[in-house]
Amino acid sequence: MLAEAPVAAFAPDLDVSAVLATLPARIRDRIVATDVGCLVWTGSKGVSNGGQDVYGRAMIAGKIVSIHRLLKEIATGTRPRRLMQQCGTFGCVNPTCWSEAPIGPKIRQRETEYELLSAFEDYMQARLRTLRRRIPVDR
Ligand SMILES: [Zn+2]
Repeated sequence: MLAEAPVAAFAPDLDVSAVLATLPARIRDRIVATDVGCLVWTGSKGVSNGGQDVYGRAMIAGKIVSIHRLLKEIATGTRPRRLMQQCGTFGCVNPTCWSEAPIGPKIRQRETEYELLSAFEDYMQARLRTLRRRIPVDR
Protein backbone atom coordinates (compact mmCIF):
# COMPACT_ATOMS: atom_id res chain seq x y z
CA MET A 1 0.00 0.00 0.00
CA LEU A 2 1.26 3.44 -0.86
CA ALA A 3 2.02 5.81 1.95
CA GLU A 4 1.91 8.95 -0.16
CA ALA A 5 2.03 10.09 -3.74
CA PRO A 6 5.47 10.09 -5.30
CA VAL A 7 7.01 13.21 -6.74
CA ALA A 8 5.66 13.61 -10.24
CA ALA A 9 8.83 14.06 -12.23
CA PHE A 10 7.42 14.57 -15.72
CA ALA A 11 4.04 16.16 -14.97
CA PRO A 12 4.43 18.10 -11.73
CA ASP A 13 0.82 19.32 -11.67
CA LEU A 14 -0.73 15.88 -11.75
CA ASP A 15 -2.17 14.56 -8.49
CA VAL A 16 -1.08 10.94 -8.79
CA SER A 17 -2.62 9.93 -5.47
CA ALA A 18 -6.01 11.07 -6.75
CA VAL A 19 -5.50 8.86 -9.81
CA LEU A 20 -4.57 5.90 -7.64
CA ALA A 21 -7.55 6.51 -5.37
CA THR A 22 -9.87 5.70 -8.28
CA LEU A 23 -8.48 2.19 -8.55
CA PRO A 24 -9.93 -0.86 -6.83
CA ALA A 25 -7.83 -1.84 -3.81
CA ARG A 26 -6.80 -5.14 -5.41
CA ILE A 27 -5.15 -3.13 -8.18
CA ARG A 28 -3.79 -0.32 -6.03
CA ASP A 29 -2.19 -2.77 -3.61
CA ARG A 30 -0.05 -4.16 -6.43
CA ILE A 31 1.59 -0.81 -7.09
CA VAL A 32 4.70 0.06 -5.14
CA ALA A 33 6.29 3.52 -5.03
CA THR A 34 10.04 3.73 -5.49
CA ASP A 35 12.28 6.37 -3.94
CA VAL A 36 12.70 8.07 -7.33
CA GLY A 37 8.96 8.61 -7.74
CA CYS A 38 8.13 5.69 -9.99
CA LEU A 39 5.18 3.40 -9.35
CA VAL A 40 6.10 -0.18 -10.06
CA TRP A 41 3.44 -2.75 -10.87
CA THR A 42 4.02 -5.97 -8.95
CA GLY A 43 1.03 -7.89 -10.28
CA SER A 44 0.80 -10.06 -13.35
CA LYS A 45 2.24 -8.95 -16.65
CA GLY A 46 1.45 -9.75 -20.21
CA VAL A 47 3.76 -11.99 -22.18
CA SER A 48 5.25 -10.89 -25.47
CA ASN A 49 6.03 -13.16 -28.39
CA GLY A 50 9.54 -13.68 -27.07
CA GLY A 51 8.11 -14.93 -23.79
CA GLN A 52 9.35 -12.01 -21.70
CA ASP A 53 7.16 -10.11 -19.29
CA VAL A 54 6.04 -6.86 -20.79
CA TYR A 55 3.40 -4.57 -19.34
CA GLY A 56 1.35 -4.93 -16.20
CA ARG A 57 -2.16 -6.13 -16.81
CA ALA A 58 -5.25 -6.80 -14.75
CA MET A 59 -8.83 -7.84 -15.26
CA ILE A 60 -11.20 -4.96 -14.67
CA ALA A 61 -14.91 -5.28 -15.38
CA GLY A 62 -14.32 -8.39 -17.43
CA LYS A 63 -11.63 -6.84 -19.60
CA ILE A 64 -7.87 -7.24 -19.52
CA VAL A 65 -6.43 -3.76 -19.22
CA SER A 66 -2.90 -2.48 -19.42
CA ILE A 67 -2.21 -0.77 -16.09
CA HIS A 68 0.06 2.04 -17.35
CA ARG A 69 -2.47 2.86 -20.08
CA LEU A 70 -5.36 2.74 -17.61
CA LEU A 71 -3.61 5.13 -15.22
CA LYS A 72 -2.75 7.48 -18.09
CA GLU A 73 -6.38 7.46 -19.18
CA ILE A 74 -7.61 8.21 -15.66
CA ALA A 75 -5.01 10.98 -15.31
CA THR A 76 -5.75 12.70 -18.61
CA GLY A 77 -9.42 11.85 -19.08
CA THR A 78 -8.82 10.55 -22.58
CA ARG A 79 -7.71 7.19 -23.91
CA PRO A 80 -4.03 7.47 -24.73
CA ARG A 81 -2.63 6.60 -28.10
CA ARG A 82 0.87 5.29 -28.31
CA LEU A 83 2.71 5.93 -25.05
CA MET A 84 6.42 6.46 -24.58
CA GLN A 85 8.04 5.73 -21.25
CA GLN A 86 10.14 8.59 -19.91
CA CYS A 87 11.64 7.09 -16.77
CA GLY A 88 13.08 3.76 -17.90
CA THR A 89 12.01 2.01 -14.70
CA PHE A 90 10.90 -1.50 -15.57
CA GLY A 91 7.24 -2.04 -14.72
CA CYS A 92 6.56 1.63 -13.91
CA VAL A 93 2.90 2.60 -14.31
CA ASN A 94 3.15 6.17 -13.01
CA PRO A 95 1.15 8.27 -15.50
CA THR A 96 3.66 11.09 -15.11
CA CYS A 97 6.38 8.74 -16.37
CA TRP A 98 4.53 8.11 -19.64
CA SER A 99 3.95 10.63 -22.39
CA GLU A 100 1.98 10.35 -25.59
CA ALA A 101 4.03 9.73 -28.69
CA PRO A 102 3.80 12.54 -31.21
CA ILE A 103 1.26 11.95 -33.96
CA GLY A 104 2.68 11.66 -37.44
CA PRO A 105 1.08 13.23 -40.54
CA LYS A 106 -0.29 9.89 -41.77
CA ILE A 107 -2.18 9.23 -38.54
CA ARG A 108 -3.42 12.81 -38.47
CA GLN A 109 -4.67 12.49 -42.03
CA ARG A 110 -6.39 9.19 -41.22
CA GLU A 111 -8.08 10.77 -38.19
CA THR A 112 -9.31 13.72 -40.24
CA GLU A 113 -10.68 11.34 -42.85
CA TYR A 114 -12.30 9.26 -40.13
CA GLU A 115 -13.97 12.29 -38.57
CA LEU A 116 -15.27 13.51 -41.93
CA LEU A 117 -16.60 10.08 -42.88
CA SER A 118 -18.16 9.59 -39.44
CA ALA A 119 -19.96 12.92 -39.74
CA PHE A 120 -21.11 11.94 -43.21
CA GLU A 121 -22.27 8.55 -41.91
CA ASP A 122 -24.29 10.26 -39.16
CA TYR A 123 -25.89 12.50 -41.76
CA MET A 124 -26.68 9.54 -44.04
CA GLN A 125 -28.18 7.53 -41.18
CA ALA A 126 -30.41 10.43 -40.18
CA ARG A 127 -31.43 11.00 -43.80
CA LEU A 128 -32.21 7.29 -44.26
CA ARG A 129 -34.40 7.29 -41.15
CA THR A 130 -36.32 10.28 -42.49
CA LEU A 131 -36.82 8.68 -45.90
CA ARG A 132 -37.87 5.36 -44.38
CA ARG A 133 -40.61 7.14 -42.47
CA ARG A 134 -41.85 8.88 -45.61
CA ILE A 135 -41.68 6.08 -48.16
CA PRO A 136 -44.16 3.23 -47.75
CA VAL A 137 -42.05 0.10 -48.17
CA ASP A 138 -42.69 -3.43 -46.95
CA ARG A 139 -39.96 -4.54 -44.57
ZN1 LIG B 1 8.56 5.81 -13.69
